[in-house]
Amino acid sequence: MIEVKDLAKDYGEHHALKGISFSVDSGRIAGLLGPNGAGKSTTMNIMTGCLTPTSGQVIIDGCDMDQDPVRAKEKIGYLPELPPLYEDMTVREYLGFVCDLKKVKGKEKKTVVEEVMEAVKVTELSGRLIRNLSKGYKQRVGLAQALIGNPPVIILDEPTVGLDPNQIIEMRELIRSLGNKHTVILSSHILSEVNAVCDQVLIIDDGRLVAEDTPEHLSDHYAERDRLLLEVRGSSEEVSRILEGSPLVESFELFGEAEGIVNVKVESASDKDIRDELFFLFADKRLAIVKLERESVSLEDVFLKLTGQDEEKEDE
Ligand code: ADP
Ligand code: MG
Repeated sequence: MIEVKDLAKDYGEHHALKGISFSVDSGRIAGLLGPNGAGKSTTMNIMTGCLTPTSGQVIIDGCDMDQDPVRAKEKIGYLPELPPLYEDMTVREYLGFVCDLKKVKGKEKKTVVEEVMEAVKVTELSGRLIRNLSKGYKQRVGLAQALIGNPPVIILDEPTVGLDPNQIIEMRELIRSLGNKHTVILSSHILSEVNAVCDQVLIIDDGRLVAEDTPEHLSDHYAERDRLLLEVRGSSEEVSRILEGSPLVESFELFGEAEGIVNVKVESASDKDIRDELFFLFADKRLAIVKLERESVSLEDVFLKLTGQDEEKEDE
C-alpha cells in the first residue's frame, strides 16, 4: 500500500533524512518512532506530498507522489503536527469547508460530514466554535478532517502530543478503529504508544531507519538475557556458592547485605524464565527468597540501545 524508497532530504547543509526505505502493507497500523529531530515530520511531509524530497520515491497505492501527485494525494488523509484548523469556524462549518477542498460535493457532503463527526465522536459539539474546544477535541476534529474523502491511507503526525491521559486513551482507541478500514502511519517519540497501537514499528534516528519489526519481535530480538533481582535471607557467601554452582546462571552480582538479607542480581544463561528453578535451588539449601523480581526488557530499552542513548545511563 505504501512504499518509501531511499528517501533523502537536505535542509541546506543539514541532512535531515539520509536514505529511508520501508513499506507498509494494506490494513496495517505502522508507527514511525524516534526522538525529536529524528526526521519523522520530514518523512511524513514528503509522504503526503507537502514537501519535496532531495531524492527518493514515495508510492501510495500504486501512485508515484512525484509523477502523479494529484492522484497520490487523494489517497491520503493527513493530520500534520499542527492541525490546519480554523478557530473561528464551528466544527460542522470547518468539516464542510474541508469537503469543499477535497471536492466532496452536494448531498454527499452532508453525509460525509455527519459520518466523520460520528467516527471521531464530535457530533454533539458540531455547533461549537473550534476555538472553544479542548485540545483533545481539536485533535479529534483534526482527525475527522483527515478522514474526509475516505482515503485508504491515513497519516498522523504525533496524534497524541499535548493530550491528557484520558484523551490519549480515547485517541488511541480511535486510531485502532481506523485500522479496520485504512492503512495508518502514525509518528511518536513515545514507545509505549507505538507498542499499544501499532502492528509494525519503524524506528528512526538521525535521519536513518535503525530498526523495523513488530513490537513483540523487536523486544525479543534485542532483549538482553532475563535479569532477576533477588533478596535472599542468608549470607553473601552462601548465596554466592549456590549461584556459582548453577548452570542456569550466566552471571550474578551481589549488591548489598543488610539484616541478614542479601540483594543479588542474576542474569540467566538462556532467555528462559528461571524463576521457578531459582526458587527451588535456594529452597533446597534451606535459604528463603524473600523477594524475586523480573526485569524484563521493554521497547523503551530497545530503543535506547538502538539509538545509542543509553551509554551514560549504563554505568548508573
Ligand atoms: P521529528 O519530527 O522527528 O522531530 P523533523 O522531521 O521535524 O523531526 O526534523 C528533522 C531534522 O530536520 C531536525 O534536525 C530539524 O531541526 C531539521 N529541520 C526540520 N525542518 C526544517 C526546516 N524547515 N529547515 C531546516 N531544518 C529543518
Ligand atoms: Mg515532528
